[in-house]
Amino acid sequence: MKTIGIIGGMSWESTQSYYQIINQDVKRRLGGHHSAKCIVYSVDFAEIEQLQKNGDWERAALILSDTARALQLAGAELIIVATNTMHKVFDQIQQSVTVPLLHIADTTAEQIKLSGIEKVALLGTRFTMEQDFYKKRLSDNYGIEVLIPDCDERKVVHDVIYNELCQGVISESSRQYYLDLIKRLVTRGADGVILGCTEIEQLINQTDCRVPLFATARIHALAAVDFAL
Ligand code: GLU
Repeated sequence: MKTIGIIGGMSWESTQSYYQIINQDVKRRLGGHHSAKCIVYSVDFAEIEQLQKNGDWERAALILSDTARALQLAGAELIIVATNTMHKVFDQIQQSVTVPLLHIADTTAEQIKLSGIEKVALLGTRFTMEQDFYKKRLSDNYGIEVLIPDCDERKVVHDVIYNELCQGVISESSRQYYLDLIKRLVTRGADGVILGCTEIEQLINQTDCRVPLFATARIHALAAVDFAL
């Protein structure tokens, strides 16, 4: 079993899910008392969030690259960045280490392709929904068509992530907003929905809606286990 390095803390609310999913899956697959060999390096999200707000992605990339190097030195044999948004600086992080990083959009795209779905809606931070680093990877590398909510809807989705989910707040009104939004996105042509922020799966899950949901934290964590084993 390879040692998984997790760059976490963005936010820690979802990092704890990664830790749980990875260990549960290793136990499911190997049985007995098996658990994952993994190292979690959890950053201070306040620093990262401020850099995101300021648009200082270079500085954020440097912090996460240092973190990746520390994980490699500590023995990590593969690394995952436990957030969709910070995949904006994926290439810089990958260049700072020699061990492989698993890209969250690639692992998600593979599941979408397996499902046969070609048109998906994307929910996430406004960085993830609006910028090219995520959507373009899905369309260019996998031929997946990506729909995003309109401007007002994106603002609500983004605010719920930072003001509630990243602070451990699960609100029934936000849950209902997301579910109603998903219905509208299905009407606009989406055949599936990417929960493209690692905290959204704490708010809604597959039992809440009919359309297939692609829960990126779970998919990414399971892909890391697959790679490690
Ligand atoms: N965890 C979130 C994501 O998957 C948002 C927090 C962040 O900006 O990293 O994008």
